[in-house]
Amino acid sequence: MKRKIKCLECGGIGYVKPCPACNGERYVEYVNKPKIVCLCGSTRFKEAFEKAERDIALRGEICLTVGLFGHVEGLDMKGIDKANLDVLHLRKIDLCDEVMVLNVGGYIGKSTANEVAYATGSGKKIVYLEPRPFARDIKEEEKK
Ligand SMILES: [Zn+2]
Repeated sequence: MKRKIKCLECGGIGYVKPCPACNGERYVEYVNKPKIVCLCGSTRFKEAFEKAERDIALRGEICLTVGLFGHVEGLDMKGIDKANLDVLHLRKIDLCDEVMVLNVGGYIGKSTANEVAYATGSGKKIVYLEPRPFARDIKEEEKK
């Protein structure tokens, strides 16, 4: 990986020295920060979350994930805790560089669809575990 250099004269960031902006010779070289990936998907896919988190860690990246697996634990999916967890997850999306959608079997539930819409609006890069469904498929899932 090419390392970015920060110029101590003008604060500019670049890859070459002297600084292309001010021709300054004082610079610091630092390792690029690890990418932050936020996992989104139904909490019924516990194994997919665990596998993705492991893969992301092994790539040297930071994984933001769900705090608990509501579907597996039998959390009231219409209750206040679920609503708060959904809002909290949007704050995790705020922090990330990339959203990874765990659309196991093509499934994207209502909460996940909301998160994808939010991430899209925030200009985040979005990647899918499985080939991306058509928009009409997402709408059909929302009706369930
Ligand atoms: Zn400079």
